[in-house]
Amino acid sequence: MSDLGPGRQRLHEVIFEADTPAGKAFDVVLLDYYMPGTNGVEVLRELGHRGIDAQLATKESRKGEMVPRLDEDLIELYEELRGTKDGVGVGALIDGMCGGCHLKLTAAEVLDAKRTDPSRCIHCRRILVI
Ligand SMILES: [Zn+2]
Repeated sequence: MSDLGPGRQRLHEVIFEADTPAGKAFDVVLLDYYMPGTNGVEVLRELGHRGIDAQLATKESRKGEMVPRLDEDLIELYEELRGTKDGVGVGALIDGMCGGCHLKLTAAEVLDAKRTDPSRCIHCRRILVI
């Protein structure tokens, strides 16, 4: 998009400056399809990438704050599970269902999971947040 005319380049700058304070996405974007040197689809694609990049940066920042406060063994287990469980090492237990494998645990299985540290899903062995 570097070959835009000065007017369109300024429009893009205004759009990008208005974009995503703390990763907030647009509700509505109105664009012309035909633009000098680009088109509305390309501009939308760029805006989408910027939103994803902002969300990733926010999450990486939060992770950087949290990791030093966690037990090293727990982090090692989490990383091992992520590597073998399609990138998902933790699942929240919601309404008796593991957020990792989406299988239900019985009340007795939940009690068993609570007795281990960390709590683990009996079905997928991911860490359970109970
Ligand atoms: Zn599970």
